Amino acid sequence: MNGQSERPTAMGQAEAKSRDAAATLTHKQFPGGHITLVGANSPTNLAMRPIRLLVCDEIDKYPLSAGGEGPPIDLAEERQAEFKTNSLTVLACSPTVAGRSAIEASYEESDQRKAFVCCPHCPTWQPLEWEQVRFDKDDDGKIIAATARYECVACERPWTEAQRLVALRRIEWRQTKGFIAAMLHIVATGAIEGEVTPRSRVTLGVAVGAAVILVGAVLATRPGIAPAIERTRPWIWDWWRTGRLFGAEPT
Ligand SMILES: [Zn+2]
Repeated sequence: MNGQSERPTAMGQAEAKSRDAAATLTHKQFPGGHITLVGANSPTNLAMRPIRLLVCDEIDKYPLSAGGEGPPIDLAEERQAEFKTNSLTVLACSPTVAGRSAIEASYEESDQRKAFVCCPHCPTWQPLEWEQVRFDKDDDGKIIAATARYECVACERPWTEAQRLVALRRIEWRQTKGFIAAMLHIVATGAIEGEVTPRSRVTLGVAVGAAVILVGAVLATRPGIAPAIERTRPWIWDWWRTGRLFGAEPT
């Protein structure tokens, strides 16, 4: 975990000595900010330091609570209050155990943007997925490494390494999860996976109740709208099942 602020620091001669004194293996000051390294079990070491950029690595290995004071990431993010919308938090980790992984939970709450690149042969934008990497095999069934290539998901034509590198020069980060699905994941945890917690049941109950009253009110005042609502039923079911909003999927 480390942090950097953009709070200007006067670096007069008198401060030069204290700068050296303040510089340790885990804390460095420089004109315009500082970089501070702390362990996830002691994020309170960031106390009194404003942080604009927070980088948390290997978050699946963090303790649930740091010294009984709460989740370490929450404690560190409190230091960003001064910068409000100008702050940035980066969470990084390889996912560990499904269902218990902190980085997995964080990813699920996001709109799951992926780096899309355009096929050199057709106009299809796509994230580069390992499943699209192809190899030839020799007579013994061994992979011939030199034949490794990426294959377009749409036109299935292979990309040369040069074409892949050119494609990577123009990346578009596109969301792969609908906004409402992401919101549902936050306000009613488990609503999409089917493991609805008691708190989420209350949230969902209130939301569904409000939706029924709203639809009932619309039908009562505008009976002519019934066929239109009927037509949306398959779409609503599809959204409920997949969590994907109409029109929100990447092209
Ligand atoms: Zn293609």
